[in-house]
Amino acid sequence: MALTGVEIFKLLPKTNCKKCGQPTCLAFAMKLAQRQASLDQCPDVSEDARQKLGEASAPPIRPTSLGAGAKAVKMGEEMVLFRHEKKFVNPCAIALEIKDTLAAADAAGRIEEAAASEIDRVGQRLRVDALFLSNDSGEPAKFLELAKLAAWKAPEMPVIISTQNPEAAEAALSQFAGKKAVLYGANAGNLQAMAEKAKAAKAALGIAAKNIDELCELTEKAKTLGIEDMVLDPGARSAGEILRDNTYIRRAALKKNFKPLGYPVITFANRQDTMLEALVAGLAVEKYASIVVVGSAEKWKNLALFSLRQNIYTDPQVPMQVQQNIYKIGEPGPKAPFLITTNFSLTYFIVSGEIENSKVPCRLAVMDSEGLSVLTAWAAGKFTASKIAQFITESGVEGELDQRELIIPGYVAILSGSIEDKLAGWKITVGPREANGIPAFLKARTA
Ligand code: SF4
Repeated sequence: MALTGVEIFKLLPKTNCKKCGQPTCLAFAMKLAQRQASLDQCPDVSEDARQKLGEASAPPIRPTSLGAGAKAVKMGEEMVLFRHEKKFVNPCAIALEIKDTLAAADAAGRIEEAAASEIDRVGQRLRVDALFLSNDSGEPAKFLELAKLAAWKAPEMPVIISTQNPEAAEAALSQFAGKKAVLYGANAGNLQAMAEKAKAAKAALGIAAKNIDELCELTEKAKTLGIEDMVLDPGARSAGEILRDNTYIRRAALKKNFKPLGYPVITFANRQDTMLEALVAGLAVEKYASIVVVGSAEKWKNLALFSLRQNIYTDPQVPMQVQQNIYKIGEPGPKAPFLITTNFSLTYFIVSGEIENSKVPCRLAVMDSEGLSVLTAWAAGKFTASKIAQFITESGVEGELDQRELIIPGYVAILSGSIEDKLAGWKITVGPREANGIPAFLKARTA
């Protein structure tokens, strides 16, 4: 059971030294009880107290890795039910199902499709994160062939091995040594054997239960078998069941600190109807899945799911930003137009997209405005004439240009005179107010 704030307080040094960032030990204890702080923030806590508090300070949903290396996906560690309370921490993995009943060429094509799904959106690399290898044939030899193909074609991609046959599991897992795979398919009939295979391969164990009651029994048994890392499938398949069970599991883990359900959840959205699949996968992204299994990876669906996931897993209190820099769009020569905007990701994304649409090569200065859009940054004093002048001067872009002309957003036309005063020798031109006016504006200049 979780300790109360007062119980935690009794175990702290009670010196009120403030090293943890809180004014008193009691305030820190309350934060710890609400899981809004980590015990590591108090450098003076005794070893004895650390042990006793371990349970209280451990994340209610166990941190678990899917895969290893640069493409590894972190799961678990979530602390809240709603993202407006605090950021959701680890974006869910989207896993593409590949069955071992597919012809080798078709399976290879799907693996390549998943591996090539990566896109850049608002400065982040987004992709289908994992392969869900399914032993539909029931034959260990066929499953091993598929595992070999995946390990060869996409060696960096995390995998989930799906089978209920411990022999097939062992053979497939042998292809992913050291890659932190998930072995999915442990049930009431095979738990012990599957747990042994998972432990031997250092893989997390995916528990496939019929319902939440059985899931609790199985996770407790798996724990007694020495399994620490688990992924939970409560058996939900319809949208209603997924919403109900995923919410129940998250609530039980967070609000009751109920350890048998304190693990990442895998949700199956794979459907014949791809539109329905997109909708169910979207629900799973929003409602607490750590792995969402899909049956296909069309570009339109990827883009919808990637964007939704990105929105759900950004911090609503911190604007998304791109790095301050002078970005080249196309291959701008020394006479190419030179524009400036702020570093709010959406602003950058839209402005750079419209410049690309114009087909006119340009330089785009993106100035650090702490992630605010143009008008907000100007109103907040972060996009001012002196800051713009300083940024342009320090960027050294002048040496690349034949003409010193800077095009500013129409919304801050009021700044043109003062920028000219501060940027000696520069001509300031007022561009369109809205980004969608940029193509016509640029084309008119080059006509
Ligand atoms: S760092 Fe530890 S001892 Fe110091 S105020 Fe925080 S909880 Fe108390």
